[in-house]
Amino acid sequence: MIEKSLVILKPDAVQRGIMGELLTRFERTGLKVVAAKMTLPDRALTEKHYLKDETWHRKVGENNLKDCEKFGVNPMDYYGVNDPVGVGKVINEWLFDALLVGPVLAFIIEGPQAVAKIRALVGTTYPDLAAPGTIRGDYSVDSAFASLVRKRSVFNLIHASGASDEAVEEIKLWFKPEEIFSYKRVEDELYNY
Ligand code: ADP
Repeated sequence: MIEKSLVILKPDAVQRGIMGELLTRFERTGLKVVAAKMTLPDRALTEKHYLKDETWHRKVGENNLKDCEKFGVNPMDYYGVNDPVGVGKVINEWLFDALLVGPVLAFIIEGPQAVAKIRALVGTTYPDLAAPGTIRGDYSVDSAFASLVRKRSVFNLIHASGASDEAVEEIKLWFKPEEIFSYKRVEDELYNY
């Protein structure tokens, strides 16, 4: 199934000057870049993009409260609250802020099962735990602990759509239809998609 996914090189990737290297990771697999733009998103766009629901707030809040216990820190000192949903909401605010600090490079990348393939290339959320060979594993050592004590989002370089229905909605937020292109790559013939 040919899918499109939204990929964003976040401000930490742009500011480290590794945009080209990261894009190469996707291109060399055979995935096709069908749209690209550098942009400085405004608050309204970041809120639409990263507005998480209560299930996410609770899950992330519970995990972070467990982390606080593990790290031996008091969640009140960092989040100002200590209930799971409240903690998740504070973290959600950090996500909005993280996309506003500088320009990002947004792409639409297309290919067979592109959403899952891209997530596999990107790796898991915390770079210190992400597998070697993944982008987050290879290019960052940021961690839950570092982000907690600095009261900020985890610097993990890339956003990639989590599911194909999410991708459809995210693409509508970031790109106009006329900014999305269609062309042939050698692989289209080779694998006969
Ligand atoms: P992913 O980007 O791996 O799909 P999520 O959608 O759950 O992860 O979260 C969005 C972004 O929020 C992450 O990429 C990361 O930058 C940041 N983030 C997620 N969880 C935390 C957390 N517990 N503390 C700080 N930042 C977080």
